[in-house]
Amino acid sequence: MHTSRSLTLARLPSGVPIRTTVHAYGDGELVDGDDGPELDAPGDSPVVYAQAAQHGREVNGAAVLRRLHDRLVGGDGGGSADSPTAADLDGTLVTVPVADPLTFDHVSYTTPESLDSRQPNMNRCWPGDPEGSLHERMAARLWGFAGAADAIVDLHTGSPAMATHTVYMRGDGACRELAAAFGTDLLLAEAAGDDADTEWDERGFAGKLRVAATREGIPTITPELAHSKEIVPGAVETGVSGMLGAIRHEGLLSGEPEPWDGVVARNHLGRVIADDSGLFVPEPDLAVGDRVTEGERVGEVFDPTTFETLQVARVDRDGIAYSVAREATVTAGATLVGVAERIDGE
Ligand SMILES: [Zn+2]
Repeated sequence: MHTSRSLTLARLPSGVPIRTTVHAYGDGELVDGDDGPELDAPGDSPVVYAQAAQHGREVNGAAVLRRLHDRLVGGDGGGSADSPTAADLDGTLVTVPVADPLTFDHVSYTTPESLDSRQPNMNRCWPGDPEGSLHERMAARLWGFAGAADAIVDLHTGSPAMATHTVYMRGDGACRELAAAFGTDLLLAEAAGDDADTEWDERGFAGKLRVAATREGIPTITPELAHSKEIVPGAVETGVSGMLGAIRHEGLLSGEPEPWDGVVARNHLGRVIADDSGLFVPEPDLAVGDRVTEGERVGEVFDPTTFETLQVARVDRDGIAYSVAREATVTAGATLVGVAERIDGE
């Protein structure tokens, strides 16, 4: 069964409502409640919540949920293990393809200050506040669905300069299992609370949907598919197979997810920083996702006026090059290469 409803997230100063669409597949059904749509699902069956585009320029997640929709409503042959339909689901999948219509319409990451000066980034204010700022209100409306789920997938995308990966809270076994079921080759474990550095705190990371939900005991992952602004078929395919793996892991589909055989690393460490301003040229054969070793040369920064080499950039640890700067013009202090340190044993 598939049902969908329009959901009003908040109201603009002009009175125009900010609306999005919620979908439900499987055992549960969206019904009209007094205060907007509600999920009516059997109490004993699992619910998975997935959303995309809370950073509106990250459009591949919305394309993933559309492709998944086509498969689940039987537009893709349907019925087999590879092509399940909504009738095959043993539980409920709830999806919101455009979680933040404000950033979506601006093709942006954050909203202009005039819309929300307190929380321009929606992914810093979860679980939201029904009486808070615009983003806090919008998050609170979506939390009505997300906070009632047994597992959450928050689809994001990185830039072409970043390797496809899935983030989960370091040390949380259920989140790690869900991340492995989603199946990207690289998993990034992000520390939280006392384990986290001060930058984590200062950047408001505790207000990410993934962190807020994990703290509520709901296993949650953030896949970062490749590319913003552009629908990339390979990224969409990765997302669809990831979603099928995640709902299979949660018991909505029979069978086991594909065995995972990738790399676990931790992020927010191991940056190679520009010592000086100039033009950065990465090593020609360096690609995001590559394994790198301590001392390895990853590129150079040169002075475009004198041609002088200002810096030979080298990594200071073994790991995975999870980002490589693609824009050549760099200022001192900019990240040239992000290196995620492997922690496969954890
Ligand atoms: Zn994002």
